[in-house]
Amino acid sequence: MNAEIIAVGSELLLGQIVNTNAKFLSQQLAGLGINVYYHTVVGDNSNRLKSVIEIAEKRSNLIIFTGGLGPTKDDLTKETIAGYIGKKLVMDPVALESIEDFFYKTNRVMTENNRKQALVFEGSHILPNHNGMAPGMVTENEKHLYMLLPGPPKEMEPMFLDFGIAALSRYVKTEEKIVSRVLRFFGIGEAALETEIVDIIDQQSNPTIAPLASDGEVTLRLTAKHKDPLTANSMLDEAENAIRSRVGEYLYGYDNTSIVEELVKVLKGKKLTIAAAESLTGGMFQQGLTSFAGASTFVSGGVVCYTNEVKHKVLKVKEETIEKYGVVSDECAKELAENVAALLSSDIGISFTGVAGPDELEGKPAGTVYIGLSINGRQTVVKKLVLGGTREANRSRTVKFGCYYLIKLLKESQ
Ligand code: ATP
Repeated sequence: MNAEIIAVGSELLLGQIVNTNAKFLSQQLAGLGINVYYHTVVGDNSNRLKSVIEIAEKRSNLIIFTGGLGPTKDDLTKETIAGYIGKKLVMDPVALESIEDFFYKTNRVMTENNRKQALVFEGSHILPNHNGMAPGMVTENEKHLYMLLPGPPKEMEPMFLDFGIAALSRYVKTEEKIVSRVLRFFGIGEAALETEIVDIIDQQSNPTIAPLASDGEVTLRLTAKHKDPLTANSMLDEAENAIRSRVGEYLYGYDNTSIVEELVKVLKGKKLTIAAAESLTGGMFQQGLTSFAGASTFVSGGVVCYTNEVKHKVLKVKEETIEKYGVVSDECAKELAENVAALLSSDIGISFTGVAGPDELEGKPAGTVYIGLSINGRQTVVKKLVLGGTREANRSRTVKFGCYYLIKLLKESQ
């Protein structure tokens, strides 16, 4: 199957926004083993949209549109395609109800043009929108499959992942089912991971193995095609085992999980409580953990100990430690982790101290980080990192590294 992505929106042509939808969809389609040969961008203009559909139909059999599903006059994707491919637009009662519900819940008045967003191609496969109003849809004629997705990435991406992939596997003309699995890695860079498994990637065409790096993490999407979904799953198992035998120590989870979520699972499973002393991360670690329901069963609390004074007065880091080694040090991280656990009576104490950047501190370069890990009954461990990102990237990566090291330590004790 050859695909083309048509992004509709004059703001793309004016350079006001970047076409990140095409990037996201291309990566996803590559992982599904679908070839993307063309990206097209067109403004909010019906005639020009028709002309690009005409061109796309000559060279691609799957045409994915993003944008122009909104309620205003310039949102004309659906109407233009309907007219062009001869599909009738009908009101989808489920989509209409969810739009009405949205207005009711947000106490806003719904106007007639909002109803327009619930219009769908007659007989099409609807893709629900849980993050906005306009539903997506998939429809086909003899030669082509058309998928319409909303413009905003926060609506489009979850819609594609949650419903678009399943819809594609339903419409793919072969008997084959597409099954995919995402392996999530931390603690290894994309280049290093690829080097470790390059021969496996090169030898594989089914399942395909597509690496993707973002936010200090690397994922591998494995996609297998087979008419029997169980066989497709065992093909994924086989590929996963081969990958695990090389880089298994960095694999922390599957599909949509996060490293914070995996730590929460371990803490809950072992019935352990944690307290955090956060200097560099200013509360980000606790924010991550407390975003999970029932957090009070595993988070005792924490201290944002940004100044030396708070480190000393509240968390009892010795003055000599600060004077002799500085706050960005192995010794300070150790005392912070041990003392916060004692202060808040928790099983585990974790600390984050370092130089977020851009300026250096205590003569140590930006990106120098110490993470203290104190687990009840064990010797405290301190990990040093040397990160090279921006201030924000250094802080968020530090939180992830903290989770990663802690998961490893807790699993070692099994
Ligand atoms: P809405 O209901 O918000 O109008 P829509 O489906 O009509 O949604 P557009 O009006 O085309 O979508 O775009 C809405 C916003 O979504 C844009 O202002 C932009 O922020 C974002 N967006 C649209 N297309 C893209 C794209 N290709 N890549 C990245 N962002 C996009």
